[in-house]
Amino acid sequence: MKLLIIGWDGATYNHLEKIKPKFYRKLHRQIFLPEPFWQKREVDSGAAWTTITTGKSFFEHKVLSISGKLENETLFKLFSKLDFLIPSNLFGKAVKFWLMSKLFYKHPPLSNDVKFPRIWELIPNSLAWGVPVTHPPKPIYGVWVSGMPYPDSYGVYPKRIEGKLKKIYSGELKRGSDLKEYKKKMFEEHFKEVKAIKWLYDNFDFNFAFIVFTLPDRFMHVEEEWEKIEKMYEIVDESTGELVEHMQPEEVVILSDHGMKKEKRAKWVHIHDSKQGIIASTNPKLLVDTHLDLFDRVLNWWKSETS
Ligand SMILES: [Zn+2]
Repeated sequence: MKLLIIGWDGATYNHLEKIKPKFYRKLHRQIFLPEPFWQKREVDSGAAWTTITTGKSFFEHKVLSISGKLENETLFKLFSKLDFLIPSNLFGKAVKFWLMSKLFYKHPPLSNDVKFPRIWELIPNSLAWGVPVTHPPKPIYGVWVSGMPYPDSYGVYPKRIEGKLKKIYSGELKRGSDLKEYKKKMFEEHFKEVKAIKWLYDNFDFNFAFIVFTLPDRFMHVEEEWEKIEKMYEIVDESTGELVEHMQPEEVVILSDHGMKKEKRAKWVHIHDSKQGIIASTNPKLLVDTHLDLFDRVLNWWKSETS
């Protein structure tokens, strides 16, 4: 295995620098920013991961969020001129988010809406795992397991391994009314996905993997207590170390689409912080400043390594 990229959705630079978990602290690391448009706004995971994996601005790939596409560009551009006037949090109500959902969130984006190749489509023997806005999976020379949003279950290419995979890992949890149960189950599902990824690695011959763990984002949206958040980071760091141990990649990149900051709004206790995303790597040459730069950097590195 040559390169393993693991996304820690929502992992926050200042949290990680405070905790310095075991695997993370050994890497070269820096802040990872979204494209300029989102640096002053709350970037959504759908828009961010699509830019990271295609190298294209969201004005090109048109994925606005995991709930909506950029369908009415004229209206969106007008909205973007005025959006700084709309409070994102008015007495704990998500005003801006609500307005955006009314105006723009009509159809959740699918993989086919993105008209550019994803990085794993250009590297043979790849694994794509759980990356937001990659459903349904497309045929590739490798394995593609789709991420949110999907109807009731994720998709798998090649189809013949779907049944086996779903016996190990059943997919992302829905937030129910029992918050305590939801938080507990999130970790159980995380351990199952790690197990499923190991099973895939044992049965295929991957050269490259792009994996996203959504646990940090999901957990921090609903958890306030710092000790528990610290523990969550340690768990994600440990799973990452385990996968590295198992897959023996030559290089590793860990990255997040945005950080999180404490703020009570609607049903959340932390919200996205566009300026606190992270990128960390065994190889300082793979560190880039913004979401727009990762795709080319990785492909160029790949070409120079394999030519
Ligand atoms: Zn995210």
